[in-house]
Amino acid sequence: MAFRIGRTLSPAAAPISIKDILAGVVGLLHGNKEVTRFEEQLKDYYEVDHCFTVSSGKAALTLTLQALHDLSPERDEVLIPAYTCYSVPSAIVRAGLRVRLCDVSKATLDFDYERLEEELDNPRLLAVVPTHLFGIPAHVERVKEMVRERGICVVEDAAQAMGAEWKGRKLGTAGDVGLFSLGRGKAFSTVEGGVILTDDAGIGRAIGKRLSSLEEYGSLEKLRLFVYALALVALTHPLLYWFPKSLPFLKLGETCFDPDFPVRKLSAFQAGLAKGWQKRIAALREIRANNAAKLSGYGVLLMGVPGDGLPDLIRFPFLCRNAEGKRRILETSWKKGLGIADGYPDSIDGISALVIRTDGKGYPAAKEIAERLVTLPVHPFVKESDIQEIVRQLESVMGRG
Ligand SMILES: *Cc1c(COP(=O)(O)O)cnc(C)c1O
Repeated sequence: MAFRIGRTLSPAAAPISIKDILAGVVGLLHGNKEVTRFEEQLKDYYEVDHCFTVSSGKAALTLTLQALHDLSPERDEVLIPAYTCYSVPSAIVRAGLRVRLCDVSKATLDFDYERLEEELDNPRLLAVVPTHLFGIPAHVERVKEMVRERGICVVEDAAQAMGAEWKGRKLGTAGDVGLFSLGRGKAFSTVEGGVILTDDAGIGRAIGKRLSSLEEYGSLEKLRLFVYALALVALTHPLLYWFPKSLPFLKLGETCFDPDFPVRKLSAFQAGLAKGWQKRIAALREIRANNAAKLSGYGVLLMGVPGDGLPDLIRFPFLCRNAEGKRRILETSWKKGLGIADGYPDSIDGISALVIRTDGKGYPAAKEIAERLVTLPVHPFVKESDIQEIVRQLESVMGRG
């Protein structure tokens, strides 16, 4: 795509300020105590017995799956939605395990539960990963009910849902293990990072054992985090976001499959960056909820909501009429800097570098969602006038209604 200068929204943003970076530097001075403080706060807030913090959501998933595999070495397959973030299969492969897919429901983005029932009938299945995609709550309780007495673990992928609640329940706390991402473009960010929560003593012990042999960030790596945090302060702002977005080597907004990533303990700098996270998450949640309510008020239909009310979204998923509609709205968004973004480019079975045993099954709903889904921005940089322009462009590309 061509170079374009001018006000440009990012698809998602949990802004980092200079004040947060200073807190990160103070955190560095405190060292490991700072990480322990963050973990203790997470345990309190989520009312769980065990919490571990690592270098990314992918790292959190890898470590969790390795620990589960330590406990059940005869099981080596992990069942995930056929439409999800490419980091998920990356983490499974990184853990030395095999990816299995279950098609999703076009209506909810959650598992297709009839298909799930069939997929669970598999003695090699180590874990199943219900996922709160974009913040839309998945039915974790139902999955737990289905795997009961089968020896399969439920790993709740709440990577996009830290701080989100649904019907009085904090997302991330219903599975045997829950995960959050603290990456750029997630609900809350420390540049990069991941959180693991569990109430299960055995699983907690196995993860703790794995964690103790992990590497820490080196000095150079911490310096990289610091510089990246500074760059994010400036470059996620709509007046400057056009610049990084125009640099193809940054691959902003692209999701790639890559099992070769570091798995480290969270650094004291990142834990310091998170200072005041409870209040900051609450504030972000309110802003996003307001923007989502405005989109909804203009008649933009939210797919995938179980029952009534809007969930805590980090991006507002919208199903275009067809692939051509998606292509046109993304092109318009690029020209006008509206922050409308592709969900994921393809279903997981479409990743050519990934070998998956599908038993000849297809994943038609996941394929169709990949063809048609875009997300609308609801983050703190989105103004009322942006929302009006987004709605106007959706109407002009899709037609009214
Ligand atoms: C982002 C994401 C992850 C991985 O988190 P990173 O911190 O980017 O490694 C896992 N699952 C889902 C659904 C995600 O969106």
